[in-house]
Amino acid sequence: MMRAIQLTESGLDEQFEEVDCPLCNSKKRDLYFEHDDDPYLNQLKVPKDFKVSFYYCDDCELIYQSPRWTKKTADRFYSKLYRPQVPQQKNVDYKLKDAADVYDFIHEDKVFPKSGRMLDVGTGEGLLPYTHEKMGENGGPKWDTYAIEPNKVYADWARANKLCQVETGEFKKKSWRNLTFDLITAQQVLEHIHDPVAFLKLCNDRLYSDGWLYIGVPTVEYPWGNEYSRFNMMCDNFTASPHLTLYTPRTLGRMLNKAGFYLERLDYYSRGIRSLSRKLRPGETQEHYGRENRKRIEETFKNCCALERQHLAKQQESVSSEGDSQEDKGMEVPAVSNQMA
Ligand SMILES: [Zn+2]
Repeated sequence: MMRAIQLTESGLDEQFEEVDCPLCNSKKRDLYFEHDDDPYLNQLKVPKDFKVSFYYCDDCELIYQSPRWTKKTADRFYSKLYRPQVPQQKNVDYKLKDAADVYDFIHEDKVFPKSGRMLDVGTGEGLLPYTHEKMGENGGPKWDTYAIEPNKVYADWARANKLCQVETGEFKKKSWRNLTFDLITAQQVLEHIHDPVAFLKLCNDRLYSDGWLYIGVPTVEYPWGNEYSRFNMMCDNFTASPHLTLYTPRTLGRMLNKAGFYLERLDYYSRGIRSLSRKLRPGETQEHYGRENRKRIEETFKNCCALERQHLAKQQESVSSEGDSQEDKGMEVPAVSNQMA
């Protein structure tokens, strides 16, 4: 059920909606975490005391945001305010390492044929498809790569630098002429999507029967405990308004299963958890037994939230000298093959 909320005082008609659990539709929930003064909502000029609230679903245990911005407000934010300038070199360097790491995870078991067709959804700078192409040129499986990116600035940049072929827009039924794929990847995308189950079902529809799905998402469970400070340059803002859902291995597994996938492999990594899944076979199911250790998750989660708030406060102090807003012209195409040889 959705109940619309209009923030008329902002004068900007930004809209928010109350939602039930996006995984199981349950209304039973507990407030898990909330904060105000959200950096993204500040950009939308939403009143600073508006609370970004995350709930814990009592039934399926997914952590989700409610109220959350509507699709219309999110679209306006992503098209106008999010990443308005071309990527900076330091981000490209980091993402290139990230892409190499994801490539290694996907190909660890060598389950892939000598060639195939891959689609990267929400590709950003286009570095994951680019890495697959380059590894093919260096003796790895030959991938015919396709990408989709809703941010026009990043899609244009990836195209201009010849990193991959990109369709600008959202992943839809007709994206890339309705081609079928051997591999679909979505790195740090699922948590931004209003209907993540529908998104995963669409991925399922677009895969061959023996195709594979890679999903990487931020996590609220840290097996390494309180000691871990996860705030390197790419790992902040994880409880901010753009993240509509937050995952544990169990809730990610439950969601994948609901969308017709069998979770084959899962691992923790610097940006959360990452997974490789295949399609469920006819009549097959996958159980994700037991309940979360809620106390432990809550402890580590609260610790990380506190660190995040400190980090954001510091970032806002130096906002004029940092971030994606800085111009960075004359970008060179990164030499990915050398780094991974
Ligand atoms: Zn639920």
